[in-house]
Amino acid sequence: MAEDCIFCKIVAGELPAEKLDEDEHTVSFMDLNPWTRGHALVIPRNHSTNLYEIDDDDLRHSAVAARRLAKRIKDRLGCDGINLLNAAEPAAWQTVFHFHLHVIPRYEDDSLEVPTRPQEASAEDLAGVAEEIRG
Ligand code: 5GP
Ligand code: ZN
Repeated sequence: MAEDCIFCKIVAGELPAEKLDEDEHTVSFMDLNPWTRGHALVIPRNHSTNLYEIDDDDLRHSAVAARRLAKRIKDRLGCDGINLLNAAEPAAWQTVFHFHLHVIPRYEDDSLEVPTRPQEASAEDLAGVAEEIRG
């Protein structure tokens, strides 16, 4: 458990949360400030700051729990779709530094918008960046 981590406190039962699902490795609960009706979070019980640091098994367990929850939300709330989202580092919108997956039910008439516009890139641009990533 990390000191001053609100999600560790939720795991430990020291902070209240509207829990939805629990297993040996994960806890799922309602997001306090939902983007849509039913917006939930899945976290590993073990503290890790973000995607770079999370243990492989915790990542697997979190993904499996997120899919279980997504199916349940789809079934119970009758949403039209689901977004699964993770933010790593503030530049990518991370605000709570305990790894978590957002399970965001989507509705045909919800107010969420795509936050960016895809940019055009030449084949050379793509090849250059790919080369940089491959190293
Ligand atoms: P991030 O911005 O790091 O991807 O997501 C953090 C999420 O945690 C936000 O959507 C925020 O609404 C939610 N959150 C922050 N504090 C609390 C809390 O104390 N309880 C719950 N249930 N959710 C929280
Ligand atoms: Zn934590």
